[in-house]
Amino acid sequence: MTKKELIKIFKQKKYKKEEKKNGKIVITQGFEKATEDKFLKWFETSNFEKGCHYCGTSNDKSFKLYQLQRTGKRHDATRGGKRSKRLELDRKDPSLPYDNLKNVVWCCYWCNNAKSNFFAEKEFEPIAKAIGRVIKSIS
Ligand SMILES: [Zn+2]
Repeated sequence: MTKKELIKIFKQKKYKKEEKKNGKIVITQGFEKATEDKFLKWFETSNFEKGCHYCGTSNDKSFKLYQLQRTGKRHDATRGGKRSKRLELDRKDPSLPYDNLKNVVWCCYWCNNAKSNFFAEKEFEPIAKAIGRVIKSIS
């Protein structure tokens, strides 16, 4: 992961409050107070090389699965190429803000999608193990 890629991830994960054409306010959770420097420091201890915090899927494996979808070898679940290209950021406890970087981990798209904001970290363990096993079986 290059510094440039990390900064891009940080910027994509900024807190956003947007007003839609119909007047509806849409809030996207993300970094409000955390600075780029703090995020870059967090990365050094984030165990990115160990892969998904929950199932262990590596960033490289995630990209291979992304390619399977984008080339039509698997049904595309990337939401138009926006998801699953690489490991994503997840809050272990979704009730805490992204600014609490001790609560933020790297997570594969499939775990992030399945965990959503519903399961607690401990509750999600058996689900993550199953996801990891199935992902390993896909080449
Ligand atoms: Zn995972």
